[in-house]
Amino acid sequence: MPTFEYAPAPESPSIVDIRSSYGLFINGEFTDGTSGQTRKTVNPASEEVLAEVVEAGEADVDAAVASARHAYERVWNGIGGSDRAKYLYRIARIIQERARELAVLESIDNGKPIRESRDVDVPLVAAHFFYYAGWADKLGHAGFGPDPRPIGVAAQVIPWNFPLLMLAWKIAPALACGNTVVLKPAETTPLTALAFAEICRQADLPPGVVNIITGGGETGRLLVEHADVDKVAFTGSTEVGRAIAKAVAGSTKRVTLELGGKAANIVFDDAALDEAVEGIVNGIFFNQGHVCCAGSRLLVQESIAPHLLDRLKRRMALLRVGDPLDKNTDIGAINSAAQLQRIRELSAAGEAEGADRWSPPCELPARGYWFAPTLFTGVSQAHRIAREEIFGPVLSVLTFRTPAEAVEKANNTPYGLSAGVWTEKGSRILAIADQLRAGVVWANTFNKFDPSSPFGGYKESGYGREGGRHGLEAYLAH
Ligand code: NDP
Repeated sequence: MPTFEYAPAPESPSIVDIRSSYGLFINGEFTDGTSGQTRKTVNPASEEVLAEVVEAGEADVDAAVASARHAYERVWNGIGGSDRAKYLYRIARIIQERARELAVLESIDNGKPIRESRDVDVPLVAAHFFYYAGWADKLGHAGFGPDPRPIGVAAQVIPWNFPLLMLAWKIAPALACGNTVVLKPAETTPLTALAFAEICRQADLPPGVVNIITGGGETGRLLVEHADVDKVAFTGSTEVGRAIAKAVAGSTKRVTLELGGKAANIVFDDAALDEAVEGIVNGIFFNQGHVCCAGSRLLVQESIAPHLLDRLKRRMALLRVGDPLDKNTDIGAINSAAQLQRIRELSAAGEAEGADRWSPPCELPARGYWFAPTLFTGVSQAHRIAREEIFGPVLSVLTFRTPAEAVEKANNTPYGLSAGVWTEKGSRILAIADQLRAGVVWANTFNKFDPSSPFGGYKESGYGREGGRHGLEAYLAH
């Protein structure tokens, strides 16, 4: 097999100016908060401390919600859709102008390869703001009545896997519809949200329309349970999603939850195998597998399984794991020590339950959090690695003989976020997609995102849709 020697191609971090400490962004200003507590955010590729951020306490959450309420009542709800659109366009343009800086900052704080933050995350972030800017003055034509109204103050809690992209998914539709927001980024990845706060200032967004408060799970809990919040939007684990659903039950708060997944990527014997291999790799190794819709269960038709697995292993051996800022890197650092521990534990459970583990020879850096791309064969549906979300670069392979068996196995999960189908027959794509209980079904591709297409799950993957026209519904009272 040919091997390729790559010279290092590092992206320079000098474009980013990381301060040693950051405050909370409330009412258009950065403040030190009242809790007196801070948290450190580290670079997962080096374990180096990047900055200290404030841990928002109860009084800070109160202040942020009050600021959002004030901005909602005095400014944002009244200025009209076309003025809101102007601000959103302005934000989108600034994101484009600062794209390289944001991509580098995201890779440093999150560990994802610069190739992905530069070519996927940040362009999609800008695209979301452009897309929802377009809707802001056309809400009366979106199918929610002639004069749909905003809901009010939105509490938004996001995870660490796509920090800036999840912020865009939450903030762009909320603002377009006339709501104001208080957003809490994940504790391990606050820096691009704080850079976004600066962008709001640069765009002259009226103070209080966007508030960013940092902190851990307790800050998130205080925010979603705050009495003056009208809408809760959460992306993260099913466990926390469940706690949030319980906490807001019985209140008038509207809720959308985008939770975990255990997607089946189904490959039929007539699929174009080289393309399918690329799709499988993209499905599970994109963003280190820290993807709620990752194709973490490969279902392959038995007759082609040995052949497909040979090709997949050859392809996996070519994946480059290492420095997230190197433009050649395919797989970056695992986001945190805690997540690495979770991936190790579930992979060990896979071996203990009798599945066969394989990884290509792969040198991992000495410092930082790393996990080699891993494949499990001999997996049964009862194994934990076939049922639980690993949220790492670990693929479980199962086989099937008939389309009916493929559908049954694909749907045999408490989740229902996404799925993939690989076949050359269009009729089979439609027939299978129709039977899959998943919010998104990709055909002959995987992990493709677009601001105009709705995204969301069934069952324990949550409820509500983000993106597209459907995404407006979550932020409109109708
Ligand atoms: P969490 O669900 O704990 O984190 C998501 C966000 O919710 C973070 O901002 C977190 O804050 C916040 N949060 C935590 N507890 C509460 C609470 N009680 N009320 C309100 N907000 C809260 O995910 P983890 O980071 O702990 O990851 C655990 C597992 O969850 C992963 O291994 C993965 O399987 C899954 N996951 C799934 C994601 C998805 O997109 N589907 C995204 C992230 C994780 P903080 O970061 O400070 O804890």
